[in-house]
Amino acid sequence: MNLKPFVFNPFGVNGFVLSNDAGDAILIDPSAGSEQEEQALARYIEQNHLTVRRLLNTHLHLDHVLGNAFIAKTYGVQPEAHEEDAFLLDLQEEQSQMYGLPMREPSPSLGNYLAEGDSIEFPGIKLQVIHIAGHSPGGLAFYCEKPGEVNGQANVPPLLFPGDILFAGSRGRSDLFGGDDHALVTGIKNKLMTLPKETVVFPGHGPMTTIGDEARWY
Ligand SMILES: [Zn+2]
Ligand SMILES: [Zn+2]
Repeated sequence: MNLKPFVFNPFGVNGFVLSNDAGDAILIDPSAGSEQEEQALARYIEQNHLTVRRLLNTHLHLDHVLGNAFIAKTYGVQPEAHEEDAFLLDLQEEQSQMYGLPMREPSPSLGNYLAEGDSIEFPGIKLQVIHIAGHSPGGLAFYCEKPGEVNGQANVPPLLFPGDILFAGSRGRSDLFGGDDHALVTGIKNKLMTLPKETVVFPGHGPMTTIGDEARWY
């Protein structure tokens, strides 16, 4: 598997392209906020001869969906996220004003709902879907238990893409649209802190961490 991170838009969202040797690509929060960022993403996809198969959103806050319209139009895939976050796509203009975050074109509506226990699979890539409400009602974490060789490196520990549920040294805020800190903490304890300690975490913003490092807070 290959893993390519991008940091996009004024909010510094970490977006990811996961791909296999056959060129199947899964995009997680590819939230390109400008034409330049869109082109950087497109260039990577083209240069590596990738076919975009899935467009996954950890949640539907505006900063995470800014690239959806471009990806949908360019590669013919629709965004996928949890049904309980779908209402946020009706509030994109409101979020744009509230956060002072410019939006080039609104995200199209979801083409598929993802739920707890689903898995997204291509040869050499398997992501399990974990649902944790609290930062947003439909927050998702994507867990890759056996990443195999990543970017040519063997024996890579499990990987977790939790969006804004969990950050290095903190967690997502719960004062926005349907947030709930109690639910968030409970979900993190029950569903993330039970993962192997060596699991490498790639949060929606900021630096990487591990489950072992974050366990002290829970
Ligand atoms: Zn968020
Ligand atoms: Zn965010």
